[in-house]
Amino acid sequence: MRLWRNYTNIIRSNCASPANQTHDLAYWRNDLFASIIIYLLPFCLIALVPALYFTVFVLQLYAVAIIDLVTISGVALTAFLPGIPIKFRKIILITCNYIFACMLMYYVGINGGAFIFIQSAGIFFILIFPPRFAYWPVFVDLIIGALFAIFLYLDLLPWPKDPQHSLGAWITVMSSLIFLTLLKSALIPRLFNGLQQTLDQQKQLQLRLQGKQLSLQQTMGKLEQKNNEMEQFAYVASHDLQEPLRMITSFLANLESRYTTVLDDRGKQYIQFAVDGAQRMRQLILDLLEFSRVGLQEENKTEVNLNELVTGIELLFHKQLEEKNGVLVRGELPVLYHYKTPITQLLQNLVSNALKYSKEGRPPRIEVKAGEDGESWQFSVTDNGIGIKPEYFDRIFIIFQRLHNKSEYSGTGIGLAVCKKLIETLRGKIWVSSEVGKGSTFYFTIPKS
Ligand code: ADP
Repeated sequence: MRLWRNYTNIIRSNCASPANQTHDLAYWRNDLFASIIIYLLPFCLIALVPALYFTVFVLQLYAVAIIDLVTISGVALTAFLPGIPIKFRKIILITCNYIFACMLMYYVGINGGAFIFIQSAGIFFILIFPPRFAYWPVFVDLIIGALFAIFLYLDLLPWPKDPQHSLGAWITVMSSLIFLTLLKSALIPRLFNGLQQTLDQQKQLQLRLQGKQLSLQQTMGKLEQKNNEMEQFAYVASHDLQEPLRMITSFLANLESRYTTVLDDRGKQYIQFAVDGAQRMRQLILDLLEFSRVGLQEENKTEVNLNELVTGIELLFHKQLEEKNGVLVRGELPVLYHYKTPITQLLQNLVSNALKYSKEGRPPRIEVKAGEDGESWQFSVTDNGIGIKPEYFDRIFIIFQRLHNKSEYSGTGIGLAVCKKLIETLRGKIWVSSEVGKGSTFYFTIPKS
């Protein structure tokens, strides 16, 4: 076994392309060449023993014995001699094959073994050389056929006694041989050309895909940079805006308290409007600040017991639930290994909305569910509140987009935008299904890993 492995390793290192080379057709042609030698050589050596015995001791055909030895040595040299380019090794192998076939043709006639050998020499030739040389075996067969015919016709050689070397038989068999070789030369390269086309197409596709991936990566990089800049901008702007706003509010308060005797009712009302506006602006700035901070905190994964987490949320909203006669229901929830803060924030925001957008005269019923969905965890928060029209399903996730004014329901339109951003940082999805007047279900998924 080890001997065989060493033997094949030596031949492969001499006759095949290095393993790290691109596996194109030239690579496989050389691989095939190495395999032909690997299997041909032991066969030749085994066949040499009876061949030598018969040719030397029985038939006394010493020339045949010498040609046998020379051609087999040629194949062995091809296999083991280091430092010869693969191209020349192929030429040596094919030449040895043709010499052996000619010797057989001379001694035993064109039929039988000689015919098989010259055929296989042609096949090896077409397989191991590039398609542009595919028709060479036809010319080689033609030359060999013509030379033998001339030798026969002019009786130039001392023909062996036994085999029939009639010119008619020779021309008949030789013309069939040339036709078959022509067929091989035309058909085998079709297979290689087809394979080459497939390989080229694959390579082109791969290149195109690589190009697309590269441009996608570049776009992603730019987007990420823009996103970071935006976040930075929102953070700095909202942070810096707070100070002047505080000044406006405090001077408005001073104006109201110190000049209360000077101001008439309309003046006081105007100041009140200005204070209201400043307060709203302050809230918006705080929301913007919160939004820009989403996903910035580094956190490690921990065990998240969703039963405890939802119980905590229930406690948090205990007062509002009691006021509205509402209930928060949940089945048995799983324990996950994940980021606790964003999951808590998401569920809190959704439960808070479910309570806020409950329907007048109907006690809120909020149900929290969680379960596995393939590679993700899927959560849902269902309510029996006012519901949302389908045309607003996307809009509600945009920052500061609200479907109601402040007098109907308090808020600034930040809650769902924060949820969406949290989900994006977790690489999950969030969506809603709802029916006006009946209620809504908010779903979100987060990948397990
Ligand atoms: P806010 O509650 O401050 O307005 P959100 O981003 O949380 O901001 O919600 C955006 C809009 O989506 C809300 O104005 C509301 O119209 C709608 N919405 C959110 N949750 C629900 C819900 N559970 N039922 C009905 N409408 C909702």
